[in-house]
Amino acid sequence: MSAEICSTCGLPKEICVCEDLGRETTVLTVGMDTRRYGKAVTVVRGLEANVDEAEKLARDLKKALATGGSGKAGVIVLQGDHRKEAARILADKGYRVQTA
Ligand SMILES: [Zn+2]
Repeated sequence: MSAEICSTCGLPKEICVCEDLGRETTVLTVGMDTRRYGKAVTVVRGLEANVDEAEKLARDLKKALATGGSGKAGVIVLQGDHRKEAARILADKGYRVQTA
């Protein structure tokens, strides 16, 4: 068994808290936008520096909210107005969330 080492702190990933700390200091903004034909979309910003995380979160949110969307370039876009639910899910995951 080989332990994975965190590239940030050098500790084994099992005991590393870098990701948790990152979440606590990352403030996500959950807002709403309207697209073509006046369709509402929920937009989550704040992960522009963490594109992989945004894509992963977009998948989680789409599944949890049973809606379509994307997580391109660190901005999560979900079809429909899911601000409340999205904010709650993100807060449950340990993020600091602001609603715009
Ligand atoms: Zn670490």
